Formats: sequence, C-alpha cells, structure tokens
Amino acid sequence: MQDPRHPQKDAYALILEAIDSHLYKPGDRLVESELAERFGVSRTPIREALQRLETQSLLTRDGRSLIVASLDHSQLAELYVVRGELEGLAARLAARHAAPEEVKVLQDMLRADKKLITDPAALSRANRRFHKQIHLASHNRFLVQQLDLVHRSMALLATTSLAAEGRGAQTLQEHAQIVQAIAAGDGDAAYRALRDHISAAFITRLKLDAAAVEAAE
Ligand SMILES: [Zn+2]
Repeated sequence: MQDPRHPQKDAYALILEAIDSHLYKPGDRLVESELAERFGVSRTPIREALQRLETQSLLTRDGRSLIVASLDHSQLAELYVVRGELEGLAARLAARHAAPEEVKVLQDMLRADKKLITDPAALSRANRRFHKQIHLASHNRFLVQQLDLVHRSMALLATTSLAAEGRGAQTLQEHAQIVQAIAAGDGDAAYRALRDHISAAFITRLKLDAAAVEAAE
C-alpha cells in the first residue's frame, strides 16, 4: 500500500531523493526494514529499488550490507570533466534554442536566489533547479538524459561546494554571466561561462576535501 505522505513516488525515487538530500551519506548502511518503515512502503518495492540502485553503482556492498557508494578522487575528476562539457553544451544549445519565456525564468531565478545566499542547503537546491532549467532550455532530450545521469552521481558527494566561504556569492555571479550569454544568444560565451562555473565548483570541492583530510589527521 502507498503511504499517503508520498502518493506519487515509488520506492526508488524516495531512496534516491534521500541520498540526494544527504539524509543518507556515502558510507551509510541502507537496511530494507528501516527504509520500509521510514517511507511507509512495503519491503518488496524497497528491495527492488535497492537492487536497481546497486546496478547503477549508487549503492555498493560492504560484506552483506548495502551502503551508499562514494566517489574516489579519480572518479570525482572524471565526473567533473563530463559535467563541465555537457553543461557547457546545454548552455550553448540554450543560447540557440531557449524561448524568451525560458530566459525570463532564468532571470527570475537569479533574482530569487540572491535571498538564499546565507543558506547553503537552500542555495544548493536552487542551484540544481537553475541548472535543470538550462538543461531543459537546450531542447535536446538526449542531453537532458545524460545530464540527469551526471547529476545522479553528484548525489554521491557528501558535501555541497556551496557551503565554502564566499562560494555562494561567487556562484550567483557566475550564474548571472551564464544567463546574460544565453539571453544574448551567444553560444560560445554561454558554453565558456558554464564550463568555467563547473571548473570553479570543482576547485572549491578539491579545497574542501583537502581541508577535510587535514582536519582528520
Ligand atoms: Zn551553478
């Protein structure tokens, strides 16, 4: 029976969302009975969802337990390269194909997101919405699918780079440049602005990780 709290969502979407929102972090154990209890879904769909997530490498085995996978240093670098190019391509296509209404939505997001600058979690959600809007404005369904895959793997990063000192304000400035280029219909500038934005996010993440290693020592 479906839980009335989650009428439309299946077990897979619920667990994925829980990983994405860091309710479950890399290394956390996922237990079938606990998930069934938490989401008010029976154990069979939970088991199927866990299998699917394991096939997609979002979960991994630790002995007999299933844990949320984590990305090692090389995987992280590989992911950011793909993300930078694909997001850049989305921006280039958006500059060419976005309807004026879609550009207006991006501009409205820029304005609204300024209010979230001191709230990294809210800003991180807003950032995802912003990038999703650019993906859709590319009007290329295959690209949107590939970007969804990349963003699913991004859920395996335990922290948001937006929590780093000053990164929130910097992010919004970079977003403004991207939107400006898309609005001007300048595909090359939009590609560069978005690729540089992802590169800056990666640099921030590397610094965060280095600081975390130092703190753990
Ligand atoms: Zn961004």
